[in-house]
Amino acid sequence: MPRRIVIIGAHAAGMDTASAARKTDRTAEITLIADEKYVGYSRCGLPFVLGGQIPSFQSLIVFPPAFFQMMKLDLKTETKVTSINTANKTVETTDKAGKTENIPYDSLIIATGASPFTPPIKGKEKQGIHSLRTLEDGEKIDKAIKKGAKTAIVMGAGLIGLETAIALHERGLKVTVVELLPQILPAMLDADMAKMVQEMLQQKGIGILTGKGVEEFLGAEKVIGIVAGGEHFNADLFISAFGVKANTQLAVNAGITLGETKCIKTNAKMETNVKDVYAVGDCTESIHIVTQKPTVAQFGTVAVRQGKVAGINAAGGYALFTGVLGSAVSRLFDTDVGVTGLTEFFAQKAGIETVTGTIASKTKADYYPGALPIKVKLVVEKESQRIIGAQIIGGEEVTQRINAISFAIQKQMTVRELAKADTAYAPPLCETWEPLVLAAEMVLMKLR
Ligand SMILES: Cc1cc2nc3c(=O)[nH]c(=O)nc-3n(C[C@H](O)[C@H](O)[C@H](O)COP(=O)(O)OP(=O)(O)OC[C@H]3O[C@@H](n4cnc5c(N)ncnc54)[C@H](O)[C@@H]3O)c2cc1C
Repeated sequence: MPRRIVIIGAHAAGMDTASAARKTDRTAEITLIADEKYVGYSRCGLPFVLGGQIPSFQSLIVFPPAFFQMMKLDLKTETKVTSINTANKTVETTDKAGKTENIPYDSLIIATGASPFTPPIKGKEKQGIHSLRTLEDGEKIDKAIKKGAKTAIVMGAGLIGLETAIALHERGLKVTVVELLPQILPAMLDADMAKMVQEMLQQKGIGILTGKGVEEFLGAEKVIGIVAGGEHFNADLFISAFGVKANTQLAVNAGITLGETKCIKTNAKMETNVKDVYAVGDCTESIHIVTQKPTVAQFGTVAVRQGKVAGINAAGGYALFTGVLGSAVSRLFDTDVGVTGLTEFFAQKAGIETVTGTIASKTKADYYPGALPIKVKLVVEKESQRIIGAQIIGGEEVTQRINAISFAIQKQMTVRELAKADTAYAPPLCETWEPLVLAAEMVLMKLR
């Protein structure tokens, strides 16, 4: 009898689980169950459709129906898994017509992702508070813009908040970002690096108010303003970008254990505490490669890698997920921002004594036309001299440098080794001295 693999959720994590399972076992019966109408699209592209760089929301569909046919995947959309029976090894589903079904599995993969949340703020039940998570969310925001919204307030200055703020600005709205903490991108950058990005955004015309928590949503049935830091702000459009919360209730009801981060706990094979049940993507926690402690890394990159591991294992193969560094990049207007590993702030919070090196350089030879500024901050553990993090802000070439430092951290490279790296040079492509090497030398100077 063919192996029956059931996957709950059909986005980044669920889709890569299905692909890996199919490549591992060509005869398995693979079923994907998704409560959304559209599946297998890139959430990461949503801000760029809103901003006008990508022509339509439909262009974001990465896995069209032909993919499911080719890979022989049985897809059930607009169908919700309402419970998991781990004793009988079945899941119960309800489709949009209300029809229920019990589907048996040999291996079950929970890829239920995460959902946007708005903290318990007075008036949060009022209409007109948008978030950007699904294709339909994007369409609703687009509709509000087309109906004539002229001003917007984005609540939360994380990556999604800022990418959305820029998209709205590009559509001609006057945008203000409100952030509770004293800096923007608090999960990604140290305050000194974030200041540079904040100044750039303000110069481009985005209003940024840090250190102001949203205290109330104003208006009768529909939100017309907010109170933040004791002040009133009115707008036509309100975006909640406070963050996302892992969808874990289904797992909890089935007796699956959550970790200290309140996301689903798994081992390196992506197995939960229940036999033959795996969990992947935004609903799970990961181990941080530097601290070796549980962390939450809700990125598409992590979701697909965990999905691949779970898919292989669920289909009878063997694979391990070794952890995360929280590597992330974004393009904010024409500035690229990237991070990998620990920031100085989070290293200190983890009890690691650090030495940092920050340098400003250019992306090509200084005299070469089009050379753009680039700033690198390297974070090094003082005792071992191991590189544990980097933040880079630049006009170009940020992603591959972030990736290079990510490799260095994974290979436990010391700052001394990085300073001796044999890098390449040509005037139209880079400076004689690679900025990462200069940052490493800066750290060595401090260590001396
Ligand atoms: C605007 C935006 C921009 C982003 N940009 C980036 C980026 O640039 N780079 C990056 O790495 N990451 C980015 N991300 C994050 C990335 O999109 C997520 O990490 C990724 O989507 C997680 O995939 P997932 O499959 O784990 O979860 P999800 O994408 O949340 O998918 C889970 C699916 O399961 C469904 N589901 C839940 N419960 C049930 C149930 N009971 N029954 C049936 N179905 C269920 C959900 O409705 C959903 O469709 C971005 C996210 C957003 C919103």
